[in-house]
Amino acid sequence: MCLAAASASPARCCLSPSSSAVLPRRFLRGLLGGPAAAPARPSPSPPTTTPLLRRCIPFHRMAQYWTQASLDKNKALVDYLKQYGAVRTDKVAEVMETIDRALFVPEGAPYIDSPMPIGFNATISAPHMHATCLELLKDHLQPGMHALDVGSGSGYLTACFAMMVGPEGRAVGIEHIPEIVASAIENVQKSAAAPLLKDGSLSFHVADGRLGFPDDAPYDAIHVGAAAPEIPQHLLDQLKPGGRMVIPVGTYFQDLQVVDKNADGSISIRNDASVRYVPLTSRSAQLQDP
Ligand code: SAH
Repeated sequence: MCLAAASASPARCCLSPSSSAVLPRRFLRGLLGGPAAAPARPSPSPPTTTPLLRRCIPFHRMAQYWTQASLDKNKALVDYLKQYGAVRTDKVAEVMETIDRALFVPEGAPYIDSPMPIGFNATISAPHMHATCLELLKDHLQPGMHALDVGSGSGYLTACFAMMVGPEGRAVGIEHIPEIVASAIENVQKSAAAPLLKDGSLSFHVADGRLGFPDDAPYDAIHVGAAAPEIPQHLLDQLKPGGRMVIPVGTYFQDLQVVDKNADGSISIRNDASVRYVPLTSRSAQLQDP
């Protein structure tokens, strides 16, 4: 069974080169250093700080985590996502440029718009899905807010959430495979979000995400990175009035649902896109041979 995570169409399964989610060949060649049209490149001089970065971490402390070459490629990916329409705001572009995707992809091509395997029948979601979820949640990821990332996998999106809510906020990643949690922590330690992990505003926990994480509830933003057969009640209970959850719901056919808890506690739900995620399930079911 195919367990690709997070592509915005049921047809976009695993690493299919025919997926409409992957980059056009012209752009791929640019990213991979081929002769074709190179995407817009950042200035060769040291990157300038951005408002988001200034709020959280001084640039001289972040520079140690990156090389200019990977920064260039990561920025080219974000530029592509802007053209594609998945990245629509400066805020989301800024955080995706700050967290280098390559640090979260153990093997494969990190700057291609496709999910990539991270082991244990799981994948890091495709960049366009990360961008889509960040855009949907950005107003609920203001400095000081609380965010929960269920099925945190590689830790990429949890790190983005942590950068957005900042040191006064909370970003919590829940993942039920201990080895994946250990990798996520190692990934984040190499990234621009490392200081937030150190100060405790960003944390990862091994647990069944269907139960949420009551310690830091209620949450302004909840993201679920695996498809649930139905919206777990514990997650609804832990969503703050005025808060938003983004969750893929379904089995084979899945919808990315946007769940808003209104001020009076009532719930509004709309479907954003057809998607294909790994299932939100038990550890034993996930680890069964595909
Ligand atoms: N946003 C993540 C997605 C990872 S794939 C990323 O881009 O890296 C989905 C993850 O959900 C997998 O790592 C899987 O192990 C995890 N998962 C599935 N069911 C779960 C459950 N019940 N509790 C916690 N994590 C779960």
